[in-house]
Amino acid sequence: MSSSKKSNKDILQAPRGMRDFFGDAFIHKQEFFQYAETIAEQRGFTGIETPIMEHTEIFLKGIGDGTDIVDKEMYSLETIGGDQLTLRPEGTAPIIRSYIEHGMGSLPQPQLFHYSGPFFRHDKPQKGRYRQFYQFGLEVMGSRDPLYDVHVIETGYTIVKQSGQNIVVKLNSLGSYKVRQQYVKKLVEFYTEHKQELAERDQSRIQTNPLRILDSKEETTVAINQQAPRLIDYLDEDSQKHFNQVQMLLEKIDIPYVIEPFLVRGMDYYEHTVFEYVIQDNDGNESFALGGGGRYDGLAEMIGHTKSVPSVGLGLGVDRIIETTHNNAFRMEEKKDVPLIITDDSLYAEALGVIKKTTTVNTQRIFLYPLFGKLSKQLSRIEKEGYQTVIILGEDEFKKNMVTLRDLKTQTQEDVRVEDLQTYLS
Ligand code: AMP
Repeated sequence: MSSSKKSNKDILQAPRGMRDFFGDAFIHKQEFFQYAETIAEQRGFTGIETPIMEHTEIFLKGIGDGTDIVDKEMYSLETIGGDQLTLRPEGTAPIIRSYIEHGMGSLPQPQLFHYSGPFFRHDKPQKGRYRQFYQFGLEVMGSRDPLYDVHVIETGYTIVKQSGQNIVVKLNSLGSYKVRQQYVKKLVEFYTEHKQELAERDQSRIQTNPLRILDSKEETTVAINQQAPRLIDYLDEDSQKHFNQVQMLLEKIDIPYVIEPFLVRGMDYYEHTVFEYVIQDNDGNESFALGGGGRYDGLAEMIGHTKSVPSVGLGLGVDRIIETTHNNAFRMEEKKDVPLIITDDSLYAEALGVIKKTTTVNTQRIFLYPLFGKLSKQLSRIEKEGYQTVIILGEDEFKKNMVTLRDLKTQTQEDVRVEDLQTYLS
C-alpha cells in the first residue's frame, strides 16, 4: 500500500473539490431531486440507476479523445482483479450501455428515463465547479422524432425555471455526423490559416478537437471566432428539417430560446440538437450554465453496439442550481412530519413508548425530536424549521395517557389520547 504524505490536518478535510452535505444544504439537495423527479414523472419518465463506475472504454469511446473530460478529468483505476474502471463523469454513456445490455430495444420505443446522483471530474475546483458534483438527468432512447428533443428541453426548462432565475435556452444544431465531419474540415482550414492569432491553448486543439475552439473563452480566440464558418450554414436537408421542427415546436409551447451558432458542448457524441440553460441577469449578462444536453443518435454504435439507438437527453447541474436558488424554491409542500417533544429528560422512555404505539410505516410520521432540554427552546427551533404541528408529552399528560397537540400556526392546542393521535393527525 502506498504511504500518504498528507498531514493529519489534510486528511481531516474532505478531498479537494468534494463536499459534505448536512443541515440546509442536505435538505435543499433532497428537495431539488424530489421536485425534479415529480416534474419528470408527470411527463412519463421513469427512474433508472446505474453503477457509479463503468469500464473506462465506455467513456473513452463515447465522450471521445480530445475532450477535456477524457484528456484530463477522469478518475480511472485498475481494480485488484485487473479491470480498468472509471468513476462516471456523466450519465448518458452508462445509461445507453444499460439499454443495450438489457435489450431494451425490444421494449416499446422510446424508453424515457430520469436519473440522479454524484458524478466525478478531476477539474480545477472553483465556485460552481466541483470534482464530485450532482446531476439530475433525462434520457429518451429509441426515437428520432424531434418532438422528444422538445419534450426533454421543456421538462428541464420547467425544473430550472423553478429556481426563480431568468433562464435562457441556448439552441444549436450540430447536424448529422456526416455533416459535422465535412464542417470540421472547413473549420480546421480556417483555424490553420489563423493559427498565430489564436490563444496558445486553442492552437493545440486545431488537430485534437477544433469544435471546442468555438466556445473558447480566451479573448483572442473569441475575436477570431467572429469570422469562423458556422455549422448551421452547412446543414444538409434532413438536419435542417429536424432543426426547424424543434424550433417550431418550442415556439408552440412558448419556450423562449436563442440560437447560438457556436454552442458545441463537451462530448463528441452529440448530433443535431444541442442546448443549454443559461442564467441571465437583468442587464442581459450571462453567467454559467445550469445544465444542457442534446441528441446522440450515434452513441450506441460508438460504444460497440451493432444498431443505432437514436436518443436525446440532458444533465442538470444540481450544485449550481441549489447555489443560485433561495428560499426553499423546490419545496413542494409544508412539512407534514410531526415532532414529539418532552418537557423533561426523565420522560425519554415514555416518549419512545408513544412513538412505538402510534406509528407504523404506513401512518403519518411522528418522530422524537432530538433536541432535549428546555421546552421554549425546542418550540422556537421547531417553528423555525417549518413544522406546522408539534406533540408535547409532559408528566401530567403521560399519567392520563394523553399528549398535547399544538398547532404552531394558530398557537392553539388540545389534549388528545395517545390511541387517537393518528386519527387526529390525519
Ligand atoms: P455536462 O454533463 O458537461 O453536459 O454538464 C451539465 C451540467 O452539469 C452543466 O451545465 C453544469 O451545470 C453541471 N456541471 C458539469 N460539470 C460540473 C462540475 N465539475 N461541477 C459542478 N457542476 C458541473
